[in-house]
Amino acid sequence: MQFKEVLQTSLQIALSYLDNLDAASVATTADLVTLRGRLAKQLNQQGIPPEQVVAELAADVEGGLIGSAGGRFFGWVIGGSLPAALGADWLASAWDQNAALYSCAPAAAVVEEVAGGWLKEVLGLPQNASFAVVSGCQMAHVTCLASARHAMLSNRGWDVEERGLSGAPSIRILTNGQRHGSIDRAVRLLGLGSSHLKSLPIDAFGRVQPEILKHALQEDSASPTIIVLQAGGINTGAFDDFLTLIPLAKNYDAWVHVDGAFGLWAAASPTYLHLVGGVERADSWATDGHKWLNVPFDCGYAFVANPEAHQAAMSHRASYITVNAEARDQIDWNPEWSRRARGFPTYAALRQLGRDGIASLVERCCGHARSLVEQIGGLPGAEILSEPSLNQGLLRFLDPQQGASEAHHAKRTDDVIAAILTTGEAFFTGTNWNGHRAMRVSVCNWQTSDRDVERAVQAVSDVLQGKTRNEMAAQFPNAAGTLKGEYEI
Ligand SMILES: *Cc1c(COP(=O)(O)O)cnc(C)c1O
Repeated sequence: MQFKEVLQTSLQIALSYLDNLDAASVATTADLVTLRGRLAKQLNQQGIPPEQVVAELAADVEGGLIGSAGGRFFGWVIGGSLPAALGADWLASAWDQNAALYSCAPAAAVVEEVAGGWLKEVLGLPQNASFAVVSGCQMAHVTCLASARHAMLSNRGWDVEERGLSGAPSIRILTNGQRHGSIDRAVRLLGLGSSHLKSLPIDAFGRVQPEILKHALQEDSASPTIIVLQAGGINTGAFDDFLTLIPLAKNYDAWVHVDGAFGLWAAASPTYLHLVGGVERADSWATDGHKWLNVPFDCGYAFVANPEAHQAAMSHRASYITVNAEARDQIDWNPEWSRRARGFPTYAALRQLGRDGIASLVERCCGHARSLVEQIGGLPGAEILSEPSLNQGLLRFLDPQQGASEAHHAKRTDDVIAAILTTGEAFFTGTNWNGHRAMRVSVCNWQTSDRDVERAVQAVSDVLQGKTRNEMAAQFPNAAGTLKGEYEI
């Protein structure tokens, strides 16, 4: 059995990694030069036994892994992996199914079909909506906006799949002014053109204002229009007012797409359900599995209220494709051809948690986000910029000198974020918000505990008290790496 030793080695490595997450530094401890030095070997002429390859890989990446699988990671918006999802993900690799079609992976097609139905139930979306399991919210936007492009143009007698966009009526895209950059990329990939994206000014809570949307819709009511609303903005977790905005958009025959990468999961909890009131009336929705559902990377979901538009945008038939009329062929809904059986870990995650477990995961994370923001915000030199309404909050750190400017506070905030990383105790990232430099707090890992929150607050408190790096290094022996990131995940 060629697999036995390598899989046993991998299991040992995985278990020891996961067991050690609580004690290990959450930030990296090996820098770029070190990692390249270890990994950039000459490609060997002769082969190497598989268990040796895996063991050496694990040794070489040591210190270059970010502890996002554990409970003390609050950077960007990144989830961990539920045990059942991780197990099913391993099996997806062992079974190595090509989940393009029912005929080349029957069980994978059925698992995905069932998981899609469960997801619609949990997220409160229409049961007759079509769906696709894609690599992330980015590709979910591409899938949904391709469906929108089809529908908007076919309404005007233009077959975009056949004729392309040259000479087509131009589509305008009105979006929440604090949209995620993945919307821009989807628009570019679909040939809709960034210059057709119009940011709508938002209110103090990061929401599109109905009067402004109405005005924009009236201004050019003849153009086919897509409106991108937000369920959970990356900085403050802001939700657009779907109950007001979607009916308004419908009056002008606009297509409403919702970016709900993490925020759509509010629907799973009775406590937070009100935030997404009316969202089910949209035309398409994009969300992630790898964030709040805690499915391993990569996994996102696209949902479209009008299955015909979705299928017209994605489906393809070739003579060698074996179609089973009864079954669901993923190629009719996905942008990919050959693909990983991503339905397995999603199916497993949903079953491990059950409806109550998903609700309590959402509520737990929101509670931890609130505690982090309140407790850190209460430390001398810290200021709360945005209290979490869900699982995202914002803080900043003030430069104590007299007459300190915005730039001084921004530098102090970045310095504190970097210093927290050196403790290895907690991981936060920076962002810009309403003209301020800020530290974002995002909680979406199922493992985050009260103890993790305590440790994170303690680390920030130590940094603010100006403990020296050496003092902190003595206290947190794993500390070393630093990392700054501007990417919006
Ligand atoms: C993470 C995120 C995205 C992009 O999702 P990926 O899964 O990284 O492709 C889009 N929108 C929001 C609000 C996000 O948080």
